[in-house]
Amino acid sequence: MQQVHTKQDVRYAVASARTCGKRVALVPTMGFLHRGHLALIEHARRSADWVGVSVFVNPLQFGPTEDLDRYPRDLERDAAVAREHGADLLFAPAVAEMYPAGEPSVVVVPDQGADVLCGASRPGHFRGVLTVVAKLFGVFSPDVAVFGQKDFQQVALIRRMVADLDMPVELAVVPTVREEDGLALSSRNAYLSASQRQAALAVFRAIRSCEERFAAGVADARALRAEMHGVFAAAGIEPEYADLVDAETLLPVETVRAGIVCAVAARLGATRLIDNAVLAAGLFSGAPALATIEAGTS
Ligand code: AMP
Repeated sequence: MQQVHTKQDVRYAVASARTCGKRVALVPTMGFLHRGHLALIEHARRSADWVGVSVFVNPLQFGPTEDLDRYPRDLERDAAVAREHGADLLFAPAVAEMYPAGEPSVVVVPDQGADVLCGASRPGHFRGVLTVVAKLFGVFSPDVAVFGQKDFQQVALIRRMVADLDMPVELAVVPTVREEDGLALSSRNAYLSASQRQAALAVFRAIRSCEERFAAGVADARALRAEMHGVFAAAGIEPEYADLVDAETLLPVETVRAGIVCAVAARLGATRLIDNAVLAAGLFSGAPALATIEAGTS
């Protein structure tokens, strides 16, 4: 695996992969890789012949009071695990390589869907995400780019950017990878104290209880929202949001059907956690059932 730090080195590597007729995949990340990221790399490996992974903590998507400076970083370990999982190239640019002129004067600003859910408390976040993803697409020209379902609003907005700006890239979305007790893996989980880690389970419980109630026949979004808020209240947590939204428009729904997304965000101390599930009648998203978790047998 090659490790490079400049856009020019990426372009050389991609050009030489293409000369050999290889299909190119890109997995964009902010690093501190965990099993969720590795599932993305493995998916990329299966759907292309050449896999590039980017590790870049993108300042443009962090608000002034957010965790840009303390975001966990370990490039050496990231390179080792990316190599082990079959990446061909790791691109770890400095901020000045990505933004040589400082704040860019041309950015990608989503028109709709960026000020709801996570966007409501993180103004400008998705402008930063779409801008860096567009730049990475420009650097790698990937045939396919792989993202996680965990950040479903991000995927929905990237999908729209690709359609609206006619970007010639296929998108692949990988299901959320979880701890055994259901907590979605996140680089930010490293911030949690032992008691916060325990309390963090409410995030998954809320999602799971919504899935279970829907599978049991409850289709009234108000009742399902109340159910999720009840789970948070029992854990003494005020969620930032706990909602049922259309997967494309990201707008709240009144009546729930299969394909609707239940999505939650909550802060535990300074750590912000998110999770979601696409509702499917009678089917669960691969994580343990609530009763199993509560019995402590998972
Ligand atoms: P991040 O490094 O947090 O910006 O995430 C990079 C990519 O990994 C994004 O597409 C995320 O959606 C994806 N990702 C993060 N956590 C998980 C997870 N637990 N399961 C699957 N994908 C994930």
